[in-house]
Amino acid sequence: MKPVVSAGRWTADSPVGLLPGVTPARSRALQEAGLVTVGDLLRHYPRRWEDRRRFDVLPSGIPEHPVCLRGTVTSTTLQRFGRRSRFRLTLAVPQVGGPPGAVECLWFNLPYIHRILREGQDLVVHGRLRPGTRLPGLDHPEFEILEATEAGEELLHLERIVPVHPSLGPWTPRMLRRLIHRALAGCEDPEAAVPGVPEGGAEVALAVREIHFPTSWAARDAARAVLARGELFIMQAVLALRRAGRARGTAVRVEVRSPLAVELEAGLPFALTAAQQRALAEIRGDLASGRPMDRLLQGDVGSGKTVVALLAMLEVVAAGKQAALMAPTQVLALQHHQTISRWLGPLGIRVDLLTGPRRETGSHAAQIVVGTHAVLYDRRHFTNPGLVVIDEQHKFGVRQRASLAGRSEAVHLLVMSATPIPRTLALTLYGDLEVSVLDERPPGRQPVQTVVRPVEKLPEAAAFLAAKVQAGRQAYIIYPLIEDDGTGASKAVGSEFARWEQLVAPVRCGLLHGRMKAADKEEVMRDFREGRVGVLVSTTVIEVGVDVPNATVMLVENAERFGLAQLHQLRGRIGRGSGRSHCILLGGAEAGDKLERLRILEQTSDGFAIAEADLALRGPGDLLGSEQTGLPPIRLARLPGDLPLLEEARARARALAEEDPALAQPRHQPLAPLLGPWLERGLAGTA
Ligand code: ADP
Ligand code: MG
Repeated sequence: MKPVVSAGRWTADSPVGLLPGVTPARSRALQEAGLVTVGDLLRHYPRRWEDRRRFDVLPSGIPEHPVCLRGTVTSTTLQRFGRRSRFRLTLAVPQVGGPPGAVECLWFNLPYIHRILREGQDLVVHGRLRPGTRLPGLDHPEFEILEATEAGEELLHLERIVPVHPSLGPWTPRMLRRLIHRALAGCEDPEAAVPGVPEGGAEVALAVREIHFPTSWAARDAARAVLARGELFIMQAVLALRRAGRARGTAVRVEVRSPLAVELEAGLPFALTAAQQRALAEIRGDLASGRPMDRLLQGDVGSGKTVVALLAMLEVVAAGKQAALMAPTQVLALQHHQTISRWLGPLGIRVDLLTGPRRETGSHAAQIVVGTHAVLYDRRHFTNPGLVVIDEQHKFGVRQRASLAGRSEAVHLLVMSATPIPRTLALTLYGDLEVSVLDERPPGRQPVQTVVRPVEKLPEAAAFLAAKVQAGRQAYIIYPLIEDDGTGASKAVGSEFARWEQLVAPVRCGLLHGRMKAADKEEVMRDFREGRVGVLVSTTVIEVGVDVPNATVMLVENAERFGLAQLHQLRGRIGRGSGRSHCILLGGAEAGDKLERLRILEQTSDGFAIAEADLALRGPGDLLGSEQTGLPPIRLARLPGDLPLLEEARARARALAEEDPALAQPRHQPLAPLLGPWLERGLAGTA
C-alpha cells in the first residue's frame, strides 16, 4: 500500500479533526456518530468489501448472489408522477463471450439522484439482479462514481479488494475510504485502536490495516478473527466490571417468607408451578443476602412471571421498603395496576399508578408503585426504594436500567423478559445478571392452534372468528400499520376497522393503536378486559403482556411483515385460559413464499426453538445492537460462530474484574476510555 501522507503524524488518541481533509463541519459529523479519535475511526469497519480486481461480467441468467458491475452510463431518464418519481439509468457492461450488454438501474422517489448520476460516467453498481421487461435490472443499487482521482488514489478505489464503510452523514463510503487510508498511513500506533487482544501489537496493527484494505480474502478473514477477540473482550469486560461494581454495593437485607407474602400465596386461586417456586426461592435468596439482587426472570409468554414478581415485591414491602413495577407501555402498566390492586387490596397494601400523563396517588407514599419509566424519575412518590421490577425488559432502553442502577442507594433489581434468547446470546447480553428460567406453563393450558394461510382464505377466517365471538369468546385482529401508507403492500387498522364492525355485529369492536390518546387506550382496554368489547382491532401495541383469558382467537393480517419471535409474542395473548385457542396468520396480497418461513409457528410453541429459527433467518444484528443491549457494539464478531472466542473473552474479562476493577495498573489504562462510558457507575473509585 502506498502511503498518501508521510507516516507518524498522529496516534490513535488524536482527535479526528487533526486529519488532513477533515473540515470542522465534517469533523462534527464524525463526532456526532461517536467517532472522536483516530482510534474510533479505525474501528469504523467496512460493512462489506468489493473485489474490484475484476468485475463481474453480465451473467446470462439471474444469479442468487449480488453482483458488482462496472460500466459506462449510456442514458438516464427522470419521470415524475406528482410527488413520486422514477429515475432510470442504462449502464453498458461487458457480457459473457460477446459484445457489451446493458443493465437498467432504477431508483424511486429519490429526488436528487438525477443531479448526481449523468451520462458518460464510469460507474460501479452493486446489488441483486432481477429480470426486466427490456433489460435485466437492479433496483436501488449501491453505486460509486469512478471520478478522476488524485495521483496514487486509483489504487484505493480500483484494482484491489475495496472496503465499503457505512456512510456517516455527509461522509460517503468513498470519502471514508480515503480518510481511513490516510489515517492509517500516518498513525503511529494503530494497534492501540483495538486493545484487549492477547496477540502482540504488530499482529493487531496488521489486522487493523487488513480489515480496511485487505491484500487478500484470507488476510481479511484472519484480521477479522484477531479484531473480533478484542471486540468481544471489551464487551465482556463491561459486563464483568458492572457486575463487580454492583457486588460491592449493599442493599436492604430482607427477611423473606414474610407473613404478607405467605398470606398472598395461600390466597391465590392457583398453586405455583414448580418452576415458579424455584425462581421465587432464587429471588428470596438474593433478597436475603444483603447484596443488591441482579436477576433476570426469563419465561415464555404465559409462564406466569407477574405473580412471581408480585411475591418478591411483597417481601420487600414487608421489610418496610417500596417496590416498583415498570412496564414498557401504558396499556400494560394499567393492567398490572388493576391485577395487583385486585390481589393486594384485601391485604391492605396501597398500590399507586404512575404513568406519564396519569398519576393515581394519595398523600402518603404507596408501598407499591406501578408505572411506565416515569417511575424512575419520580423522587416524590418513589422515595424509599427497595426493589425495582422491570417487565418486558427488552422493550426498554438499557439506559433506563443504567440510570436506575446509578442511584446512590443500591436497590434490588429484577428484570423480566419473554424474549426467549438462545443461550449463546444470553451469555452475551445478560452476562452481568443471574438468570432464573420459568420453563413450565401453568397446568391446563392447551397450546395455541396456529395456521398459516394465504390471503384468499380471509373470508373463511373471518367467518370462523365471527362465530367464536358471537358465541361469547373474544378476539384480537392485528395489522402492521395504523394508517394506509398508499403503497397497497399492507393493510392498516384505520381502514379495516369499519369492515370488522359490520362483520361481527352485534358484537362490539374496539380500536387500539399507539397514536391514540392515553385515556382512549385505557377505555378500550378496560372495555375489552371487562367483556363489553368483543373484538380488539389493533396494531402490535398489544404485543407485550396483555392478559385477557377469555380471548381465544387471533387473526393477524399481513403476517409476512412480522418477525417470528414477534408473532410468537403476539399469539401469547391467547391461550391464557382453559379454552382452546386459535391463531390464524394470513399473508397479504404480495406475501408469496414469504409465508413459508412462518410454518415453524404451526409446528411448535417452544419459544426457544422459534428464537433459534429467527436468529438463523435474520442474524443476531437486531439483538446485538447497542441500543438493545447497552453494550459496546459488536461489529466483527459473529454468533454463534465465534462462541469459543466469546467464552475466552469472558474468562479474561472476569479475571480482569477480579484483579484490577479500577483499571489502575498501567497496562490496563488504555482500556479505561473504552470501558468507562458503558459502566453505569463509572469505574470503581472514579464515580
Ligand atoms: P407472563 O409470564 O407472560 O407475564 P402472566 O404473569 O401474565 O404471564 O400470567 C399469565 C396468566 O397465567 C395470568 O392470568 C396468571 O394469573 C396465570 N397464572 C400464573 N401462574 C399460574 C399458575 N401457577 N397456575 C395457573 N395460572 C397461573
Ligand atoms: Mg407479562
